[in-house]
Amino acid sequence: MLEKLKEEVCAANLELVARGVVIYTWGNVSGIDREKGLIVIKPSGVDYSGMTPDDMVVVDLQTGNVAEGKWKPSSDTRTHLELYRRFPEIGGVTHTHSVNAIAFAQAGKDIPALGTTHADYFYGPIPCTRPLTQQEVEDDYELNTGRVIAETILERQIEPLSVPGIIVRNHGPFTWGKDAAASVYHAVVMEQVAEMALKTLLLNPDATIDQYVLDKHYMRKHGPKAYYGQG
Ligand SMILES: [Zn+2]
Repeated sequence: MLEKLKEEVCAANLELVARGVVIYTWGNVSGIDREKGLIVIKPSGVDYSGMTPDDMVVVDLQTGNVAEGKWKPSSDTRTHLELYRRFPEIGGVTHTHSVNAIAFAQAGKDIPALGTTHADYFYGPIPCTRPLTQQEVEDDYELNTGRVIAETILERQIEPLSVPGIIVRNHGPFTWGKDAAASVYHAVVMEQVAEMALKTLLLNPDATIDQYVLDKHYMRKHGPKAYYGQG
């Protein structure tokens, strides 16, 4: 079942390691088959070395029950499911503990848009969520993490695919995209722009970028009249 999606999701998980944004068993990637209402996600606590598509776990979008797989799904599965349920345009989700993005999450600050690298992929600051309440943590931590992410996206009136990631306060990044590979790509880019922003703020805590430069860079790649690349 879902062999192609399992291959895509497995490859996307391994890409996280190849790009240096996860160590040990940290991090997880999923992808969804909207027609079947099923997601494919990394197993919980299984090492990346030697991981194959056969190790991926198939989970029902609505119930969260395992539909197929020999392992338990990632402990963050309920966060992934909530994002897929709330935002139909999302096709893949990635979670990492990449260091520079986490520095902002632990500081409780958005990753500000300070340059064109950021603007090429994230149309505006990458939001930091509010902290979860004690009750949210104790009741259903992973589901409530997804709810707090959705709450932040809605409050800030963000198009999820225009700002394809967020940092959860005191925790770290969740990114998404049209598929699993795109969500990993955004996780890698987020870590890179977080490092750039951190260094920029060290040199000049008042650094900014003009909105018209942000607009130009985002729109030439993603707007209705995009002209970047060969497509
Ligand atoms: Zn985590």
